[in-house]
Amino acid sequence: MKMVDLLIRGTLVPMVSENILVDHMLVIDKGLIIDYGPFTEMAMRYQATTFLDMQERLILPGFINGHTHVGMSLLRGVGDAAKNLQEWLHDYIFPLEKKILNEDFVYWSTMLACYEMIQSGITVFADMYFFENAAKRAILHAGVRALLGETIFLQKDISYAEDFCTSFFGDTQDLVAPALAPHSLYSCDAQTLIKTHRISQQLKVPLIIHVAEQKDEVIQLRRKTGMTPAVYMRSLDILSSNVIIAHGIHFTDADLEIIGASGASIIYNPSSSMKLASGIARVKTMQEYGIAVGLGTDGTASNNSLDNFSEMKTGALLQDLCLEEYCKPLTPYEIVKLATVDGARAIKMEKKIGTLEVGKRADIISIDIHHMHQLPAYDIFSTLVYSSKATDVQSVIIDGKIVMHNRKMITLFDQVNKLKERTTYYHDKIKDIK
Ligand SMILES: [Zn+2]
Repeated sequence: MKMVDLLIRGTLVPMVSENILVDHMLVIDKGLIIDYGPFTEMAMRYQATTFLDMQERLILPGFINGHTHVGMSLLRGVGDAAKNLQEWLHDYIFPLEKKILNEDFVYWSTMLACYEMIQSGITVFADMYFFENAAKRAILHAGVRALLGETIFLQKDISYAEDFCTSFFGDTQDLVAPALAPHSLYSCDAQTLIKTHRISQQLKVPLIIHVAEQKDEVIQLRRKTGMTPAVYMRSLDILSSNVIIAHGIHFTDADLEIIGASGASIIYNPSSSMKLASGIARVKTMQEYGIAVGLGTDGTASNNSLDNFSEMKTGALLQDLCLEEYCKPLTPYEIVKLATVDGARAIKMEKKIGTLEVGKRADIISIDIHHMHQLPAYDIFSTLVYSSKATDVQSVIIDGKIVMHNRKMITLFDQVNKLKERTTYYHDKIKDIK
């Protein structure tokens, strides 16, 4: 008998195909999936310090939130009256951020975001915001995996963001990794974009950027440069396989072809794009051009939740809603792929996470599918996308460590009172400013 850290029994949904494996066992040691197979077979070969018997539950790879701004979670709901992205940014978000943003705000915003994401089965997210060092401290306390992109608007922001990335060199933890995040094509000048991209390649870190989120942005770019967004990015030589594009709603087919050839990925953020009236991303067409597409919530302030289940359902319904010649419907299995295996490719972590396979890090969630609102469950992917809720997630394991079990928070258990106190403090402060 081999002694290992953790054994998990349940119905495995490995996300390498539509196959599911009833009454199997996952074998986890030192944060890695080292084996899996039928329960009876594995039980004869392994013993563990911790055994989680979740026979009645689905066991999936943890969900991936491909685009967030966790540091602004305490701004949940402040710009609900905005009619579009520019109004939301300029009339609500930028003025508030100017008055309220500091390390403490980002730390507690991130803590709040991690709490909510763990509860909906999200085990990793790709973020873009400010004071990412403060975010990192909260994330390591929560035990969540993350890619953190320090935001850049102007050339003078680059050295701070570069220092943030190099501060990870020699880091013993690998749960949190750095990225560079120039805000967008419309808010960064060409030199800033070129320089940031060059540094991202030198440091071998991803580059996260908002592109083609709104129609007007594309019209302005064409007026200024005569180019569509992907053509403009190619002309600056800032399209490569380490680039993660948030949104990509208003790309032409020629744009998508260029992006597909470059290896850059796109994150689909359905709720936020609906709320800010940005438009509908053509997910299936993107995939047909060979682009890795992930699913994201965007920030709390434009969603207003960090809930992977509502995002999967909204994402599926929105593709169904738009005309056949514009969008093509995705199957429930394809939607779950966006939140797992495809999402891992999209945030450049496919070697580490995204499936239940030997050699992958143990980011694992268990989901109950026996509640009345889920029955009868003829197709588990349909049940997951259309009739399950965040509260159906029972346990969350990240890098082999249990962060939530039977809905009881483990890593953030001691933070609840302080989190409530800081949330009230900032709520009152923002109310006064408004
Ligand atoms: Zn965003």
